[in-house]
Amino acid sequence: MQKNIPVRRIHLKTRYIIAELVILALILAVTCLVYLTGGTNYAFSHLMYLPIILSACYLGIKEAAAAALLAGLAVGPLMPQNVASGLMQPAVNWMVRLSVFVTIGITSALFFRRIKAYKKAETDRAYINIITGYPNIGKLNVDLDELLDRETPFSIIGFRVVNISGINQNISYDIGVCVIVKALEMLSRLSGKTVYSIDTNEFAVILPGMSIADAKSLGEAFLNKTLEPFLIDRIEIRLLINGCVVYCPLQTSDSYQLIKKMKMTLDRATGKIGIYVFDDEMEIRSKNQSELIPQLLNAIQNDELSLVYQPKVSLTGEGDRSVEALLRWNHPTRGQLGPGEFLKTAEEAGIIREITKIVIKKAIGQKEHWKLAGTPVNIAINISPKDLDNNSVISYIAEILEDSRLDLSLLEIELTERGIMENQEIIIPFFEHLRQRGIRIALDDYGTGYNSLVNMFRIPLDYIKIDKFLIDHVLDHTYNLIIEAIINVAHKMDRKVIAEGVEKKEQLDALRQLGCDYIQGYYLSKPLPPDEVMRFYGEGENRQERAKKG
Ligand code: C2E
Ligand code: CA
Ligand code: CA
Repeated sequence: MQKNIPVRRIHLKTRYIIAELVILALILAVTCLVYLTGGTNYAFSHLMYLPIILSACYLGIKEAAAAALLAGLAVGPLMPQNVASGLMQPAVNWMVRLSVFVTIGITSALFFRRIKAYKKAETDRAYINIITGYPNIGKLNVDLDELLDRETPFSIIGFRVVNISGINQNISYDIGVCVIVKALEMLSRLSGKTVYSIDTNEFAVILPGMSIADAKSLGEAFLNKTLEPFLIDRIEIRLLINGCVVYCPLQTSDSYQLIKKMKMTLDRATGKIGIYVFDDEMEIRSKNQSELIPQLLNAIQNDELSLVYQPKVSLTGEGDRSVEALLRWNHPTRGQLGPGEFLKTAEEAGIIREITKIVIKKAIGQKEHWKLAGTPVNIAINISPKDLDNNSVISYIAEILEDSRLDLSLLEIELTERGIMENQEIIIPFFEHLRQRGIRIALDDYGTGYNSLVNMFRIPLDYIKIDKFLIDHVLDHTYNLIIEAIINVAHKMDRKVIAEGVEKKEQLDALRQLGCDYIQGYYLSKPLPPDEVMRFYGEGENRQERAKKG
């Protein structure tokens, strides 16, 4: 499907007119030839079959009959049988020839129509998604090309079901397909248009003449409808869907580019439920990012990735020394880069798993080093949701767990709610296994994602890390109440609470009053290189004390 150069397409109607002109020209040419070669006595009038069959093939029955009639008349009553002697044809001659022409025109047109119908049925079959029974990406491509040919403005909305693998693996594949088909039916009813099933969990609808704003609200209306769970075999299934709108012809003139932009927007929207509109900035960012990928691969090989460690401090007096490992890239020309500048690209390019393995290895090494130096420190590692997409990181961790020489009791894993929601089926047994080996689990960035209290119950966890966004507002009455509620629920369920991004003493005081267990943030310490961590703890526990006393 790759098309690098946009193809100049000839308008369908123009093509039709050209075919008609070619046929007329051929009839005229054969007529002249018959006359110039001496009349119908010679065999050249049989050449008329050529335009007749061509029009049967390219234009249709009516056009073939008309071409046959015209051809029959052109070499008919006015065409001499012998030009030199001026002998005209007997009427029966040209009338029989004319009816043979018409018969051949009509029968060959019928024959071509049958062949075309047969071919169409075959192509139609090729254009159906065999799993859902809806038109597939090939058909979308063809229909988009046709709209682009006609230069009709249109919007296209793409949707992606983000929790399909959870449904397939937790419930059943058949039910997964069934629920997607129901969503497709719902979208088809709502939009009144053809719905294309581009992938098992992706579908799209083309809306000719519809503006971006209208397409966005239609997409949102569909998402609202899908918030209601689908009932299949008495099982309630909820789909998490995100969508995007791309408008044409403003943003592209090629169907391949259009589908690419749609998929790119869906990739960007991962993790957020809603309808996103494609913007050209996104494309520029994506280009910059693709340049980053080979550099990142080099960084892995040249050991340019390192960890800094941000201390967490207990407000209750209990608890050990504890830090969070945060990734840094010591870029050869750009200096030290934070994860915000490369992690997303690493996730999209599928390199994240290799990076996570490096992080785990370095963190375990550092933990051992501190332990041997007589200052054991807990280390928390961040795991990306993408790490769980296939088994690579899990089996790597499992391998580490097998290694009985390693003391993993001081290790913690931080994962966001999104990571948990997208990988529910593997998360619970995985976390249970880790906790049995003494590894503690933290739910990261709490308060920014799904914010589900239910997850706090269902998932085996040790810590809830309240996101900096909520902590920034802890002095505001409403947010204070929310944070208090989170802390109370967490404590009732035997989870400890860590406040992230604490920058001011007033925030720390407020958090202590609310009963928060740990704090982390620039107020206590920025992320530090390993030797400075020792200094942090070495400067007596005075900072810890400062935190405890306020
Ligand atoms: P996070 O896990 O929520 O980490 C906290 C981030 O907030 C860190 O940014 C930290 O430097 C910053 N921070 C801590 N205290 C304060 C504060 O008081 N004020 C402000 N303004 N910021 C504070 P960093 O190191 O840039 O990391 C950003 C995110 O990148 C992390 O957010 C985490 O999601 C991700 N990340 C970092 N290291 C890794 C890693 O090794 N693996 C994976 N998968 N993700 C990582
Ligand atoms: Ca974290
Ligand atoms: Ca966090």
